[in-house]
Amino acid sequence: MSSDYLSSWAKNIAPSPTLAVDAKAKALKAAGHDVCGFGAGEPDFDTPQFIKDACAQALIDGKTKYAAAPGLPELRQALADQYHQNGVIAEANPAQIVVSPGGKYSCYLAILATCGPGDEVLIPAPYWVSYPEMAKLAGATPKIVLAGDDQGFKITPEQIEEALTPATKLLILNSPSNPTGCLYDRSEMEAILDLAIRKDILVMSDEIYEYLLYDGSVHHRPASFSDEARDRVITVSGFSKTFSMTGWRLGTLVANPTIAKAVANLQSQTSSNATTFAQYGALAAVQNWDQSMQAVQDMLVHFDRRRLLLLDGLNAIPGIECLRSQGAFYLFPKVSSFGLSSEEFSARLLEQENVAVVSGHAFGADGYIRLSYATSDEII
Ligand SMILES: *Cc1c(COP(=O)(O)O)cnc(C)c1O
Repeated sequence: MSSDYLSSWAKNIAPSPTLAVDAKAKALKAAGHDVCGFGAGEPDFDTPQFIKDACAQALIDGKTKYAAAPGLPELRQALADQYHQNGVIAEANPAQIVVSPGGKYSCYLAILATCGPGDEVLIPAPYWVSYPEMAKLAGATPKIVLAGDDQGFKITPEQIEEALTPATKLLILNSPSNPTGCLYDRSEMEAILDLAIRKDILVMSDEIYEYLLYDGSVHHRPASFSDEARDRVITVSGFSKTFSMTGWRLGTLVANPTIAKAVANLQSQTSSNATTFAQYGALAAVQNWDQSMQAVQDMLVHFDRRRLLLLDGLNAIPGIECLRSQGAFYLFPKVSSFGLSSEEFSARLLEQENVAVVSGHAFGADGYIRLSYATSDEII
């Protein structure tokens, strides 16, 4: 069948390049090549045992039916308590929480609930690969603003102000960032929020890496800054990266009651609830927070060691410059001095050296490559 039969949405969407690199590396490995994979965007640890146990017990207890579309009431309440404590919501109101099948879906629903044809979505680059495609799927127009390594990969209020038009509806923030690992400090984040409030634009803050921090860095949740911020920031996070639960598909969204209700409605008509027994595992993670944070600390010891190993190794290569990241599990070195596009560079690296990385092009930043250090010291 010709692609004429496909919808305009399907024709215009690009496949996820990060998943594609991972698939190519796995195929080469299966064919007997000794591939060093830096492509994967997921922790290489197992999920903490007590979380798996809670899920297994739920399965044994027959928690195998549909749950409430926006999430298990106990889980939404536990998350509401937590987000109230850290200032993201003014009261511990579970109606402001939606649990979705993955943080990716939470992002998509946040965009779908707020943006449509005629709206512009402001996306700082380097960006997570899915944001522009999600904006397009909502019928909106992605507008990209580049922040290079000379500014620590962080967008400034001046750049945002310059890119604003009367059609700008939503600004996407992702700190700590995938692909750069950069982290906005409090004053930088506050200046951006002040502008968003002044210009009446909504903010989606993707905080999926909020607990993966190094060098004593602190993550600042923009929604917690003020009542006005709480009203216009949609906070997205999830269990995938923090607790090594990528395959569980569990994301979270926190927003004002109007947006949260719209997101819940969209979810109820498109996916229904996130997997019921998986949510019991998440509930154990939230209810036993000290134990959960201990598990994260244990993983961070390894991530941090690998981060520094990879950082030093990269910076020791003539022609490569890499900023010291502060969060997530990625480094985003500049490779432009080699005179190749980053797509060409990463393609040759895989073909000639059996090293899998993702081209910066995929993140809207040519001249860089992304390496994930969620891999062994031996590989690094
Ligand atoms: C991994 C990731 C997500 C969501 O991951 P899920 O597996 O869908 O929970 C969201 N945003 C960014 C920036 C990510 O890297």
